This record gives sequence, structure tokens and C-alpha cells, in this order.
Amino acid sequence: MSTEILQQSIRDIPDFPKPGIVFKDITPFLRDPVAFGVFIDLLADQYRDADLDAIVAIDARGFLFGGALARALNIGLVPVRKKGKLPSACISEEYELEYGTAIVEMHDDALKSRERVLILDDLLATGGTVAATLKLCRKLGAEPVACAFLIELSFLNGREKLGDIPIFAPIVV
Ligand code: AMP
Repeated sequence: MSTEILQQSIRDIPDFPKPGIVFKDITPFLRDPVAFGVFIDLLADQYRDADLDAIVAIDARGFLFGGALARALNIGLVPVRKKGKLPSACISEEYELEYGTAIVEMHDDALKSRERVLILDDLLATGGTVAATLKLCRKLGAEPVACAFLIELSFLNGREKLGDIPIFAPIVV
């Protein structure tokens, strides 16, 4: 039932940002406090007893949920950003896009060794961004315990890039 509320709040935009892509638009979901609350509560219930030290949220839509979840669990938030956006010293990871590569960064003092983190983004597509984020966390010695999304595009097999880490996504397409 609660998954239905989430599903109904996601809008498909065909051919955005280019022909052949069906973009999952989460802006109606963000505008709906019931749907937003259902998702944050689902996440909080899922991870309340996971002994997490921080949420690692991915630029940019991961931030929209990251702050709310970090507050609900009373833990901190670490932003992973596209290259060149973070002000202090960073570690970086490059990953493949359909055409070319991209780089994500994290402050080099954002996590301590053995800290347990949840990686959070809006959507799992090819898995490249999250795989790079897992590497950033592990470079600092942290322990990613799970990856969570609002939506998983299962036909893109993104999970294959993530090893055996548990994946949570209430909407699977
Ligand atoms: P990927 O690295 O391929 O898993 O891409 C993940 C990122 O791209 C996520 O942060 C999504 O916000 C965005 N993304 C990829 N495909 C879509 C899509 N069809 N609809 C909405 N966002 C997408």
C-alpha cells in the first residue's frame, strides 16, 4: 500500500534528457508530504537498528532525502559531489558514463576508519555513480553497510556493479 503511494508520485517523462530515455521525475513526489514522509519513514524503519554512523548522500537528488533521513536517525550526513564543488581537500573517483567519464568527490576527512555508512541516492540506473561512491567510502576505511534508493531501474542491471552489498529500493521498474 505505501509502495503504491510512492509509485503514484513518480512521473515518467519520455525522451528526456535525450531520445529513448524515460526520465523518472521525482518532483511530484517531493511536492507530496505524504509520499515523502512514507519514504523517509520506510528508510528510518529499515536502518534504525543498523548502527550507522553517517548517511553518504549523492549529488544532487540524494541530498533531498539525505538530510531528512540523517535527522530521523540522529546521525550525520556526508555529501558526495560532482568534481570541483567541495571546498576542502578531496578524494576522487572516476567512473564510466555512456559517453566519456565523470568524477565524484568526497572530503578526505569526511569519514573515519570503520565508520558504518548508508549510501543514498534517488535512483539506481547503471550503478556507476554508486560504485564510485562505494570506492570513496572504502578509501577512507569506512564500511558501507547498504545502498538505498527510491527507484531501481532493474533492466539496467546496476546491482551487478555493487558486489554483494544489500540494496533497498521500494520502487523497482
Ligand atoms: P547511474 O550512475 O547510471 O546509476 O545513474 C544514477 C544517477 O543518474 C542517479 O543519481 C539518477 O538521479 C540519474 N538517472 C539516471 N537515469 C535516470 C532516469 N531514467 N531517470 C531519472 N534519473 C536518472
